[in-house]
Amino acid sequence: MDESIPKIYVQIAVALPVSGTFTYTVTGDLADKACVGKRVLVSFSGRNVTGYILRIIQHENRKGLKNIINIIDPYPFFPPNMVEFFEWLSNYYLYPVGLVIKGALPTGLNVNIPAGTEMPHKGWLDRVGLLKKVFITVKKGTAIDRSLFDPKRSPKNEGEFLKMIIKKKEVSLQDIKKTFTNGGYLVDKWVKKGFLKRSLRQVARDIEGENIFISPNPPPLNSKQKEVLEKISGKLKEKCFFTYLLHGVTGSGKTEVYYKAVKVATELGRQSIIMVPEIALTVSMASLFKARFRDRVAVLHSALSPGERYDQWIRITKGEADVVIGARSALFAPLSRLGLIIIDEEHDSSYKQEEKLRYQARDAATVRAKLSKALVILGSGTPSIQSYQNAVIGKYGLLTMSERILKREPPDITVIDMTSFEGSPAVQDDSIISPPLRQAIKENLAKGKQTILFLNRRGFSSLYLCRFCGEAIRCPNCEVSLTYHKQGNSLLCHYCGFRIQPPDRCPLCNRENLKAYGFGTERVVDKLMEVFPEARVERMDRDTMRYKGKVQQVLRRLENCETDILVGTQMVTKGHDFPNVTLVGVISADLSLNNPDFRAGEITFQLLSQVAGRTGRGNVPGRVIIQTFNPSHYAIIAARDHDYKKYFSQETGLRRQLNYPPFSSIANLRLLGNSRTKTEKIAQQMRIKIGNILIKQSKGKKDIEVLGPVETPVAKLKGKYRQQILIKSRSPRYLNQLLKKVENISAQILSSSGVRLIMDVDPYQMM
Ligand code: ADP
Ligand code: ZN
Repeated sequence: MDESIPKIYVQIAVALPVSGTFTYTVTGDLADKACVGKRVLVSFSGRNVTGYILRIIQHENRKGLKNIINIIDPYPFFPPNMVEFFEWLSNYYLYPVGLVIKGALPTGLNVNIPAGTEMPHKGWLDRVGLLKKVFITVKKGTAIDRSLFDPKRSPKNEGEFLKMIIKKKEVSLQDIKKTFTNGGYLVDKWVKKGFLKRSLRQVARDIEGENIFISPNPPPLNSKQKEVLEKISGKLKEKCFFTYLLHGVTGSGKTEVYYKAVKVATELGRQSIIMVPEIALTVSMASLFKARFRDRVAVLHSALSPGERYDQWIRITKGEADVVIGARSALFAPLSRLGLIIIDEEHDSSYKQEEKLRYQARDAATVRAKLSKALVILGSGTPSIQSYQNAVIGKYGLLTMSERILKREPPDITVIDMTSFEGSPAVQDDSIISPPLRQAIKENLAKGKQTILFLNRRGFSSLYLCRFCGEAIRCPNCEVSLTYHKQGNSLLCHYCGFRIQPPDRCPLCNRENLKAYGFGTERVVDKLMEVFPEARVERMDRDTMRYKGKVQQVLRRLENCETDILVGTQMVTKGHDFPNVTLVGVISADLSLNNPDFRAGEITFQLLSQVAGRTGRGNVPGRVIIQTFNPSHYAIIAARDHDYKKYFSQETGLRRQLNYPPFSSIANLRLLGNSRTKTEKIAQQMRIKIGNILIKQSKGKKDIEVLGPVETPVAKLKGKYRQQILIKSRSPRYLNQLLKKVENISAQILSSSGVRLIMDVDPYQMM
């Protein structure tokens, strides 16, 4: 057969920042190997780059198309039903489809070499690759018995060694060497004798330290859980796309409902994805599922090593998992029989990715589910305004579990007005831990109970200020002041990581008048040790949790009651279940409230309700104390009263008035440049062009509102000056159309200006 005659055509996305897809021909033997989801090597603008096969095309009229160079993979990396999903992401978030796929796949799989370069023959196809291990087995047709060795002349553990191999039939060399120090020698000896055999086999890497003990036997569901499950099962059996919002207060037993839902899906032959907001929480969720589903569980998150992630991925593509558990990126699990996606704590902002493809995993999950005719369950004690509104208008089904398991009482919440301690002689002391909170901690300690204190700011103090000229020490790269960290005696930028020793003199007036103001978690711990010297205090924030496994250690000590008081940032607010924690203190509710962000109230309400949910999970009712300078703010009052509905109606009232989501769709166009004036100028030009586009547009322009450009609240970040233009639209479709036009003209405006445009659709971070 003529090698040069194309057999088939393939539609390829290349892993480069270019828009659109490309058609190549496939000839000869390669044509039989081509299938959707495999990587190929193609020549593209003078380079040999990785591409992904999106479609096989039988007929094509265009002439002169290029041939692909090679097919890289023996098996596809994603099933065909994900192609449309990748395309939707690319279209909605305005991001090249090849880069969408590259970001979804395990890292380290990309080939990008100048054309004409000699290909390295080994290892370039699969730089990560599956781990291969040597296994030792008894050779077929042989039998080992005691007569074969002389106990007097052999090493004394030889009998034991043989017994182990005969019993287990197959043991990895690594395990043998772990058990017997002379394992290597013993294997050699018996292989030479012709009784044992070495063989190389691919294995999935163990994900280390990942399990905590959970009873494999689920408790019987209570009547509310049963009722909810019945609705879920009903929908699963219909095998149609649908979304349920499960509004279940913290401690209402949502996890057991998730487990049963996954079980039903599995029995129907369909696979599930469970997403949790933090990598640390995948551990407890995965432990529960592993205890009950054994090795039919896969785990995907960004803290896995490239090799571990690769192994999990391959297991999933091979159909070896019924359920995939992970953080945001589990959305991309290459399941071909997807039937259920569960998103726990769906309101959590960590589902939004803030770099590269700026997707919101929760929203994207409903699209993936729709394409796979799957069911989505969004679970939360404090649903996002967006999701609850969708339930209100009937787009989602609403399921409610408003009581805690065993009818445990919700915690009693007290709000402390911190303005009343202003001007007292003990101001400095009282502003960190007010007298009522101090009293409550004291009583709790006396009862042998545990306390969690929450403050969403790490470090010792938030400002390092000259008392003479008022100048704060600032980061040279970002327009923010530096935070003083006592540990390591340094001033640190929380945005870019810049670090210096605190200067002795003010850089402006040269006086020795510098002092630290404000407080962070480190200072709270100091204060506690001063007030309660006998208490065992631990801190959990990004500074103390640098090392792998550290979070688990701290949580385990809390669980074992080796810690009396845990102080932490929002890491402590999520998910955990510790029955002996009966007091939660919020050191300052004002930090999140004062953010220049239309979601500030929503985030505060959620944080307060979530952290309050950490207490009273055992038999003793819990107590919560919230310190704030805004005691009458509606978000704080609603959190105090456990009144989600009231909060929802107040918040949606405001959003409707100001035309913010869920009553509009918004996009944030951020312009980043090295020069302040240049960035400002480009932003203004961009604004004018957007105005021109809108004038020409016939439809939908009345529904679009353009705000800015303005400097972002943090006007300079990591050395870049920042401007933003906010676009609000009544319709997501018109917004998308406008953004595409903006993208088309942006190259011209930005060309050689040194200014970069980032489009953030449905933005979360407004800083
Ligand atoms: P949520 O995720 O809604 O905050 P969890 O799923 O963590 O709540 O459940 C809270 C606690 O109740 C857990 O310790 C869980 O094991 C327990 N639990 C859940 N369902 C039941 C049940 N039907 N009977 C007894 N205990 C249950
Ligand atoms: Zn900085």
